[in-house]
Amino acid sequence: MPTNLAEQDHKMIRIMSTLKQQPTPDGSQPPVNRFKKIIDHVARQTVDRCWHCGTCSAGCPFVEHMDLLPNHVIRLVQLNQREAALKCHTIWICVGCHTCSTQCPNSIDIASVMDALRQLAIHDGVIDTETDIYNFHRYVYQSIQKHGRLNKLEALSRFKLGSGQIFSDLQAGLKMLTRGKLDVLPHNIDDRGALADIFAHYDERRRSFDTHE
Ligand code: SF4
Ligand code: SF4
Repeated sequence: MPTNLAEQDHKMIRIMSTLKQQPTPDGSQPPVNRFKKIIDHVARQTVDRCWHCGTCSAGCPFVEHMDLLPNHVIRLVQLNQREAALKCHTIWICVGCHTCSTQCPNSIDIASVMDALRQLAIHDGVIDTETDIYNFHRYVYQSIQKHGRLNKLEALSRFKLGSGQIFSDLQAGLKMLTRGKLDVLPHNIDDRGALADIFAHYDERRRSFDTHE
């Protein structure tokens, strides 16, 4: 969804105006921001260090395709806006290139925050934007889980069948096949036990979402 700075700003202003209309609790203590606690824990970051200088957003090569700027998303986490953050397109458009992370003056790894948000969106079952991107992630993940390395032909075939776009990119696919860029048969790694341990570790981390609820 190509967009521009004005649209991204308007969307953020709309979210912020909704926020202002929410009733404030009577007590002086603000409610605990469990959403931020989960994201900080999973991404191993402290999003409150962000002072919104905008450096991450200025350097992101995919920003024009996002509905919110990367630092807008960080702000939503700081403000406990779980639904708005998990439903935005930005977290799926982000390719995890780490350009933003290397430029942040406060050393916040924004790419890891985006990754944590994607994981939480999957955990919450909130995947109603960019489902093709989510499915692509899923098929790549499953191929690596099965073989220990990515079998591109398998992941791409499953993605194409699932999305119903069987013949799109056919020429490119055939070219890659004839040039030996796509392995027809998967190559499995030898140490399947180590592979199972790695995925068990990440299953355990995913369960930590629930312990922080
Ligand atoms: S570069 Fe860092 S401090 Fe600046 S807005 Fe982005 S996350 Fe916040
Ligand atoms: S990691 Fe994501 S948000 Fe950061 S620069 Fe790359 S695409 Fe943009």
